[in-house]
Formats: sequence, structure tokens, C-alpha cells
Amino acid sequence: MIAWNSTPVPVLDGTQSGISLFDTALQGPAPLGNLPEQSLYVCGITPYDATHLGHASTYVAFDLLNRTWRDAGSTVRYVQNVTDVDDPLLERATAMGVDWQDLAADQIALFREDMEALNVLPPDHYIGAVESIDWIVPIVEKLVDRDLAYTVPGEGGEPDGDVYFSLDAAAALDPDDTARWFLGQVSHLDVETMLALSAERGGDPRRPHKRNALDPLLWRVARPGEPSWPAGSLGEGRPGWHIECAVIAQQFLPAPFTVQGGGSDLVFPHHEMSASHAWAAGGTPLAQHYAHAGMVGYDGEKMSKSRGNLVLVSRLRQEGVDPAAIRLAILAHHYRADWSWTDGVLDAAIRRLATWRRAARSATEQDVVEVRDRVRAHLAHDLDAPSALAAIDAWAAAQPARTGGWTGGRALGDVVDALLGVRL
Ligand code: ZN
Repeated sequence: MIAWNSTPVPVLDGTQSGISLFDTALQGPAPLGNLPEQSLYVCGITPYDATHLGHASTYVAFDLLNRTWRDAGSTVRYVQNVTDVDDPLLERATAMGVDWQDLAADQIALFREDMEALNVLPPDHYIGAVESIDWIVPIVEKLVDRDLAYTVPGEGGEPDGDVYFSLDAAAALDPDDTARWFLGQVSHLDVETMLALSAERGGDPRRPHKRNALDPLLWRVARPGEPSWPAGSLGEGRPGWHIECAVIAQQFLPAPFTVQGGGSDLVFPHHEMSASHAWAAGGTPLAQHYAHAGMVGYDGEKMSKSRGNLVLVSRLRQEGVDPAAIRLAILAHHYRADWSWTDGVLDAAIRRLATWRRAARSATEQDVVEVRDRVRAHLAHDLDAPSALAAIDAWAAAQPARTGGWTGGRALGDVVDALLGVRL
């Protein structure tokens, strides 16, 4: 699938000295090291309600990581998926009375436009669930052959043959291997919480005949009226969500790759389960580190279509809001924090952008070096964008009101663009 376009990232003098990132699995900061190559997988959208501020905030967060790695001289291999067939998409299409493929195509197009406007660097591989089915099927077949997955009989009119992953079998693999996967490795949650989250987030812990209530779906066999694809010994059907990401990541990235990213609502079950699948299928951990972005609400409430309070990037753009201001509004909050979008947040970002643009016109060479080094230092510390913004604010506030200029303006703009993705 085609991703989106980006303008070249300015290359700055000097380099980032190396960053530490909060690792959910480690439950603390992890030094990432300055390696020649870093690899990143960020879970993509299910294409509906695109691109709300929660989506935007997650992709901007990992764009900061991408930019920081590049600034450290690393080559970054970046993969993102798009879950272009799944229950929530089909349910939304049915509710709207539209074809699910048309809904997906429209929303993916909108997402691309929004990402480009927000100056989010595109992934090297942007892969849809549908186009990854041919890679997923042999992996699920292999898991069944090795008794790491099993079929479940249908009940109440449901067909036989849905394939589930056996968490207990995966956890029992290679017990002496220190790198092995175990339930809770990523999320550190207790089983009661896992069961509650599984029910809330697309799992089916109450389905009868599963070996473990938390076992996730790998392959859903065809139902009347649902899309399905041929799948060898599995029978026609479509893949589960967690195996989709595990297989796409292993198809394009080293095993393990450096950072698995996503919103904090993906910690469990999604990232826990993807990690289990990768371990069972490939015998290596999925990722070295797991990083998660906070949730964005609206005026203190959860943002959702049903509450009618979704803030969409495309709507703000239509209203004439500069995408650089939207990006600055996001960056004013630490990526791991939960925060709330308000009119005040946007107004503050618009004012900040204007101040920076005014001040940048008269930046001296020395100013550029100082701002660059301060921003680098803050980003090195768990991508601390709010402190980086505060450092630029402090510099801008100290600027005498000069006229004419453009002495160092372009160079300061390059610093802000390269490191923060904000175009002055
Ligand atoms: Zn994913």
C-alpha cells in the first residue's frame, strides 16, 4: 500500500548523543544506544474516525522518535500497518450503510493527507491486513501443526473452525530461554484485569471451548455476508488483529526490532498477544522495547464518535488551522501523558507558533546552536517535547524586537523542523 509523501528532513550539524525511552515491558527507562540502524513498528489505524487527535498524537509521538534517531545518525527502518479488514470496520460500515472497502479507502486517503499535513515522516512499508493474508496463513498453519493453535467448534449458529492461539502452550516453549515470552511480559497486568480488558477491547474471553479464556483469535472462518479469503488448510476466512501485526513486523523488520509503538490502549491485549505470536512462530522476541503514547480526551471526557466529541485533524484543517499549530498543540504534552484537547490548547499553540516565527527571523548563529543543543538534550530524555518547547519559548521571549533580519531564521527553522517536525 502506498504511504504518504514527506519533504526532506534538514540535516543539522553535530548529532544527538543517544536517547533513553520509557519501556512499558521494562517498566522503566531504556537506553536505546546509538546504532547504525534502528527499527520501528507502530500499529496503524483501523480505517474509520480518521484522523482524530488521539491518532494524530500517537503518530506524532513516534515521529519524534524517528526524527531523534535520524538526528543521531541512524538509519531508521519504519513499518506501519493499516487494519483494513476487522470487526470494528465492518460494524461501522454496516451502521453507515456503506461498503466496507469504500469506507476503508476513503479513511486511509484522509489519514494520508492528515499525516502529510502534520509533517509525520512516512513508514518505509505501509501494509494493509488484506495484502498480508498470504503471509499470515502459513504462519497460522504452522502454529496449528505445532499444537500452539487449535480450532474451536461453533455454537449457536456459528461455524466450526475458528482458530485460537494457545497462550499456555506458547508460555511453555523453551522454558530455559531467558528471552522467552510469558503472559504479562509486556503489560505486567494481573489475570483479572487482563480478562476485563480482553472483553472490552475486541477479545472474547467468554467464548466456550477455548483452552484459556484469554486465548486470542488467529483466524476467523467465513460467515455469510462477511469478507473472506482462501486459506489452505484453515478454510476461507480472515485473520485476527494481533497475528496481523506480528507477521507484518517479522516480514519487514529484524527480529527483534528496536521499538514497538502504539497508543496505551494497545498494551493489552494487542501488544502482549503480538509478542506471544512472534515468539511462538519465530522463536525470537517481537521487539526489544515497547513504548506507548497517552490517550487524548476532549474537555476532560473520553473522545469518541458516540459522544459526538471527536476532534478530527481534517476538520481543523478545513477551518483554516495551520497544521504546524496542531502539531505544536500535541507536542505541548508529554507523549506518555493522558491529556485533553480544548480550544485553549489550540489557541496557545497558535500564539506560540506566531511567536516562534517572529523570533526566528532574527536568530543569530549562536542562537541556532544553543536552541539546537537544548532541544536535543530534552528529546534525549524520553522525548520530552514540552521541555523542548519551553526552551524555545524562553529563547524567543528574550529576543529583542528587531526588524529586517533573516540572519539565522532559516537555520533556526531547520532545527525546529528536523527535530520537532514543526515548520516555521
Ligand atoms: Zn498492531
